[in-house]
Amino acid sequence: MTTTARCPTCRAVSHKDGNKLFPFCSERCHLVDLGRWLNEDYRIPDQPDTSGGGADSAVPQKPDES
Ligand SMILES: [Zn+2]
Repeated sequence: MTTTARCPTCRAVSHKDGNKLFPFCSERCHLVDLGRWLNEDYRIPDQPDTSGGGADSAVPQKPDES
């Protein structure tokens, strides 16, 4: 049986078999996630967030519902 999971970065299906970076699908996605983690840990207030999250990081604001 092959264990599969969604890559936390690109959400592609990744397979655990022979994948040292599981649940990431590739080294690139692993590094992207690592970079995000480091950015949060060492955030510099003076710098605007232009690291390029793309549309993926844009969370639509929901109107207040009562
Ligand atoms: Zn990926």
